[in-house]
Amino acid sequence: MCYAIPGKVVGFKDKKAVVDYFGEKKFAWNEFEDLKIGDYIYAQGGFVINKIPEKEALEILEFWKETFFELRERDFRLSSLDNLSPSSKKTRIILDRALEGKKLKEDELLYLLNLEDRGDIEYLYKTANFIRQKYHKNACCVHGIIEFSNYCTVNCLYCGIRKSNRALNRYRMTEDEIFFTVKEAVEKHGFKAIVLQSGEDPYFNVEKLSALIYKIRKNFPLLLFISTSEVGENGLKEFYRAGARGVLIRFETSNPELYEKLHNEKIDERISEIESARKLGFLVLTGGLIGLPQQTPEDIINDILFAKKLKPEMYTFGPFLPHPQTPLRDEKKPDLDIVLKTTALIRLHDPYGKIVSTTAVETLDPEKGRISAFMAGANSLMLNLTPMKYKKFYQIYPERIHENETIEFQIQKALFDLKKLGRAPTDLGI
Ligand code: SF4
Repeated sequence: MCYAIPGKVVGFKDKKAVVDYFGEKKFAWNEFEDLKIGDYIYAQGGFVINKIPEKEALEILEFWKETFFELRERDFRLSSLDNLSPSSKKTRIILDRALEGKKLKEDELLYLLNLEDRGDIEYLYKTANFIRQKYHKNACCVHGIIEFSNYCTVNCLYCGIRKSNRALNRYRMTEDEIFFTVKEAVEKHGFKAIVLQSGEDPYFNVEKLSALIYKIRKNFPLLLFISTSEVGENGLKEFYRAGARGVLIRFETSNPELYEKLHNEKIDERISEIESARKLGFLVLTGGLIGLPQQTPEDIINDILFAKKLKPEMYTFGPFLPHPQTPLRDEKKPDLDIVLKTTALIRLHDPYGKIVSTTAVETLDPEKGRISAFMAGANSLMLNLTPMKYKKFYQIYPERIHENETIEFQIQKALFDLKKLGRAPTDLGI
């Protein structure tokens, strides 16, 4: 199983390698001192992950060659805007400006978020998908996530693993269990980018996590993301030193009052954590919750604008799904369209960013969620690698999809869906 296509190094620019993929040139940050022109590499998230022997690379490239162009052609066809138009003139004018690469104004984004006519809504999704194809072709990165502890000392109002949920079985994987889960993901399933995630669990302090990150990075070529408690600039520096290169930190809402109500603390700390991470050189995955109680359409637009200012590598915006063991249990979940519209607007606002089709959108609509998000501008996927015996207890929201599926099954299903859409499970660098 392979989640990246090998590329050939054809040059260097500053600290980046210039990498050729079937004739297309991309850049990837290089930390290998002995990397030279002619070497074959894997890149993930714009980083050179490892060098691979030429023979192995050529065999994989031979396998990919035909499939790659076949998939690309299918994606190209599916993302065409030929003979399509929205119902209203105003929608056409705004989306034409987006297609010309113009930056849409706040009131235009709000107008699109509030669209009600089906023809207009569908054209918005198609425009976003067209722009995704134009800037990213059919590449879709497939990351893995390991949820290694559901202990949490915090009480976020929307979250099912909040401290006050006494009905939840708590688990904490051992360092060995985490290590072997990563080993299997890399060596057996071919993952090249993995997120390690937990609640705010004091057991896993900076020292323990750094030691684990170091051990993992020493043994496996992969792009490692951390998504745990806020650890401040010094903690982040330790993670970077140990070998992590990405962080997943969502701000959930950029509305300071709403943030404070949900988290019982000010938003400043979260923002400063994200900004520190970016300054230190981490790739940042961030985003928010869509459909929170008291969240207005203007809030959603502000979240999109705010997220872009954080210069993320990847956006992850998922629907709010009320958990029965939280104070928000009686609130309504959003409908699929508001989630898809948000996805499409992120794509319009940041054509270059990657956007995750979240597990939460699939849980919201198991039948259409994933595919619809991909057809509204998303181009990334995260598969759950948490061992089966723990997975059902990482209940940030209820009845999470894929809870009872093996990783093999998830991979097959993801590949099936991607193939249907002409997407290649690869990450071709920046
Ligand atoms: S969102 Fe994170 S910090 Fe908040 S309760 Fe859930 S796991 Fe804990």
